[in-house]
Formats: sequence, C-alpha cells, structure tokens
Amino acid sequence: MLKNPGEIQSKIDATLKPQSIVLGDTEATIHVVNALRKRQLSYNVIGLMEGSDPALSAETIIISAHYDHDGLAAGGGIYHGADDNGSGTVGVVALAKAFMKNPAKPKRSILFAVYAAEERGLLGAYYYAAHPLRPLATTRAVINFDMIGRDEAPSPQTDGLIEIPKDTANRLNLIGALYSPDYDQTVKQQNKAIGLTLLLTAMSAVHNIPAVYLNVGRNFGLRPAEFVSRVLYPAVAPRLILASRITLGVAWLVVVAAEMIAVNSGLGFLIIDARNAGNRYDLVVAGMIIIGLIGLLLDLAMRSLERLKFVRWGYSEE
Ligand SMILES: [Zn+2]
Repeated sequence: MLKNPGEIQSKIDATLKPQSIVLGDTEATIHVVNALRKRQLSYNVIGLMEGSDPALSAETIIISAHYDHDGLAAGGGIYHGADDNGSGTVGVVALAKAFMKNPAKPKRSILFAVYAAEERGLLGAYYYAAHPLRPLATTRAVINFDMIGRDEAPSPQTDGLIEIPKDTANRLNLIGALYSPDYDQTVKQQNKAIGLTLLLTAMSAVHNIPAVYLNVGRNFGLRPAEFVSRVLYPAVAPRLILASRITLGVAWLVVVAAEMIAVNSGLGFLIIDARNAGNRYDLVVAGMIIIGLIGLLLDLAMRSLERLKFVRWGYSEE
C-alpha cells in the first residue's frame, strides 16, 4: 500500500535509512527552477605562452586554478581561502614565471588560466569550455591546481572516507591520473627524482575516495611477482600440461622405437625378438598391449595434474 510522502519522509528522518518502494505504473517529471538568481560580473584571467615548435605550437596545454573562494559568511565573518585556492592561483602564476624565465621553451603552447566562480559551481571553467580561446580539439591536457598549500588534516570532509596520515607534508594527491596511463607513468617517472608520496585517485576523488584500483587496467593491482604467480602462470598452466602430455606420449614412442632398432633389451626389443624367434605373434601382441598400457598410464599420470586446484579453471566441470 502506498504511504503518503510525509510518512515516508518522517521514517527517513527517524531511521536515516532509504525507504524505497515500488511505484508500479508511475511517471515522474521533475522541473528544476533556480530559486535564487544573482547576476555578478567576474573575470577569468588568462595568459598564453606560445610553443617553440612550428608544428606543435598550435596545440595547447592548460595550467589552471580557480582564484575565488566563498566570501562573507551569512552571520558576518569571512571564509578564508588561502589554501582553497590562493595556493593554486599562486602556483599557476609561479609556474608561468618559471616557464618564461627558462630559456628552454616547451614545444606546445601553454595557456595559464585562473578561473572565477568555481565555488558557485565551476562557472568560470564552464564559461571557458563554452568560449574557448584555443581550439578544444587540439587542447591536449589540463592540469588544474586546487589546495596545494596545506598539509592535510582530518576534517568533516575526510571523516570516514580517507585516513589522513600524521605527516602529509610530502604527500601529493593526484586526481584523474588513473584515466591516462601516459600521464600516470610520466608522473611516477618524474617523481622518482623528487620522492613525493603520490596518492593517485580517479575522478570520484572529488569526495577524496582513495584509489584501491591503482593500475587496475594493466596488472589487476598486483605486484609483478604476484602477477606472474597468480595471473600469468595459472593462465598458461593448462596449456603447459597439455604440451607435456603430448611430449611424454611422443617420448614413449621414441623409446620403444629405439629399443626395436638399437638395443638388446626393453619392450621394443622383446617384440622384435619374439618375431625373429619363430614368429611368436602371441608375444608380439602381448608386448604391444603392454606398451599401449604403459603409454596410457603415463598419460593418466600427467592428466592428474589437471586436478591441481590452481589450474581447475582451465577445464570444464563434467
Ligand atoms: Zn577549490
């Protein structure tokens, strides 16, 4: 029976649990209306450094940050934004200065951008994406800096989501590196000389969810030795067993054939000897049966390897 929305709301408030129910043939329409409209003028501030390579300078790398914060609090007071995101803004300006001073110029053009109104919903960045100054098709990467100035301390935002170690002075959170193997690799390679503790996360890290799936696409999150023992070896083991069965079968035939031709002992020799000693075909047939049985037993022994647990997946259950 359908409860009324008020009842459902009270139950959610009381239990803090979802109260899901099937609504059957129901259509729902949602109209979203902005209750508050505020018109303000704000500016993105952008500078371009032309690339040095005639062929590649048409391509763009964006180095960006937002420079706004939350302003005045309703009950008086001010939301301070030194870390979020005075730090990122200064970082972009410092990088622009460093790139200009460096006589070795990058091949691609670099667009240094600080955006407005990020805290109101990424408005400055949305505006740039809608009115790009350089073609988006040849914009190869965006590296955005946010809150690069603090040693992160536990806060309500991180509670229950990530554990903040005591010392974070040397730690760098990189969001989105997991989407780009090239970027991921470059960062790790460059960091070898710098030695920061990297925390690589996917985009879900807007809520600071740590990446438990580090490198999941390439090695299932296993260390190289584990990758060999737990993935690679079990993958090839069933084929190795099959190859060994064939090899052993052929080897057994070679042994028998060699006994027939070259030595004076063994089952092969017995068959030749029985035929030469007055056509004792009963002995010939008995010898051949024994040879066959031994071959069969050898193969059965090899097949027993198929019952090992770590290769079971390679054989269908009958
Ligand atoms: Zn920010």
